[in-house]
Amino acid sequence: MVTITDQVSTTFKEYRFIPRLTPEGFDKEKIDFSTRLTKYGKDTEGLMLNLPVLSAAMQSVTGPEMAVAVAQQGGLGVVYCSQSIEDEAMMVKKVKRTRAGFVSNLEVINQGSTIAEVKRVIDKTGYNMIPVVEGDKSDYGKLVGIFEGPVADEMEKGSMVKDWMFEFRPGSLESLVETTRKDSSADQLIRLVNKYIYYGGSDISLEEANRIMLDNRRKYLPIVNNDGTLKFMVFRKDVQAHTDFPKAVVDDNKRYLVGAAINTHDYVERVPALVESGADVILIDASDGFSGYQKKCIEWIKNMHSIPVIAGNIVSGEAFDYLADCGIDGIKVGMGGGSICITQEQKGTGRGQATAVIEVAKHRDRHFKESGVYIPIISDGGIVHAKDIAMALAFGADSVMMGRYLAGCHESPTQIIERDGKRFKEYWGEGSLRAKSWSGNRYGQTEFDEGVLSVVPYIGKVSDVLLEIFAKIRATMTSIGAGSIKELQERAVVELISEASRIEGGVHDVEEIGRERRR
Ligand code: IMP
Repeated sequence: MVTITDQVSTTFKEYRFIPRLTPEGFDKEKIDFSTRLTKYGKDTEGLMLNLPVLSAAMQSVTGPEMAVAVAQQGGLGVVYCSQSIEDEAMMVKKVKRTRAGFVSNLEVINQGSTIAEVKRVIDKTGYNMIPVVEGDKSDYGKLVGIFEGPVADEMEKGSMVKDWMFEFRPGSLESLVETTRKDSSADQLIRLVNKYIYYGGSDISLEEANRIMLDNRRKYLPIVNNDGTLKFMVFRKDVQAHTDFPKAVVDDNKRYLVGAAINTHDYVERVPALVESGADVILIDASDGFSGYQKKCIEWIKNMHSIPVIAGNIVSGEAFDYLADCGIDGIKVGMGGGSICITQEQKGTGRGQATAVIEVAKHRDRHFKESGVYIPIISDGGIVHAKDIAMALAFGADSVMMGRYLAGCHESPTQIIERDGKRFKEYWGEGSLRAKSWSGNRYGQTEFDEGVLSVVPYIGKVSDVLLEIFAKIRATMTSIGAGSIKELQERAVVELISEASRIEGGVHDVEEIGRERRR
């Protein structure tokens, strides 16, 4: 006998927030959007984001450019897996190579190299400033100088790099470090007075590094460990980017965070390649994640690698409990709510996105109470307006994943197309015929499609779009008096609205002839 539940599925747009007291002095600019991406508790701290937004792992949404743009705003880009392992790994590498302020994947040259060798490095990389070290690339070794290009014709071919470099004398380095050790109160001072190098490894903020570089009118500032080994550099020409993206999310080596999607078919080959490329988190991309295949895949990754794994997609508490037992680090919730999705139509499976998030969050909270391990939820699909994000967060999601919204941005991988004088971008589902032309996709079957091909309006740069979205969410949170996502979840009071109140809530009984913005 079929089980018929009493539950009626609802979506975010069926609810409205009831305003709560906004305390006097409430500062909307101080609202904290930082959130958890992967589990924390007992022995793990987990990854954090500064903005609760992920770009969907879709061919028409997240390539390297999108991933960088979203990470710069504090969210996470998830590179799609409906492509070859090599291509996906290349995309991940590209994100990790993009300068996030501190540059750690430096092209260095050994002090014993010739001018001809440094010229080759300059020609290959296009960089004009090459750190000269005692070691080689795999182990930077002590920084002994900087070669500032270009290589001039007058420099003899056979001459050595060290004859032309700007030298940091090891003697002076060591005596400085000695003094630092002896007098710890002078520690900070000594670091700052040195105009050319900063000692202390990662123990410096980007703002501080930039300030030292600019105050001393330098084009760059090497940051070295106390023993003189090179750790990072900052460059003057990147300063603007640092001030533009103060909320960027970066790894321990100050490279942008990036997620990589995988399927449950070729993970034995795909995961090692993605780990090797520097992916920070793996997201299993399956339209229905409540399966033994997913369990097997999670267990394999957990046995072989230490990278966090976000599983999904699921829509029930039962599925959450099943996957939580496999040791997942996060969970993606949503089935059938995606704008290009025809899964509900084709298979009859799915759930209203609000109900799915509420149900999974209930089980997540119980799991946290019982085990002390908090597993963050990503609400995936169906975000149409900024208020949907606020609603998803209020219902217990830690972040949202967006496809349609970001597909229309400049940084999505598709071309702008013009139609009747308006600009659009193409957006297609991973289960559409277009995406499935790459075999091995998340929609295992080939007999029918689960997604469509569409166009969405071109809406400009990710930074502008997210700025506007979060200005609206700030306003919502101000009305609720919530200074953080946690406070939003604690304070929010929501109500289902009737169809008549929904109509009343929109423009009605007038003939709208225009508004300045529409997004
Ligand atoms: P959107 O933000 O409403 O456009 O939804 C994006 C989400 O839809 C993605 O993150 C996926 O979870 C889901 N999705 C992507 N492609 C398909 C598809 O072809 N069919 C069904 N769901 C899809």
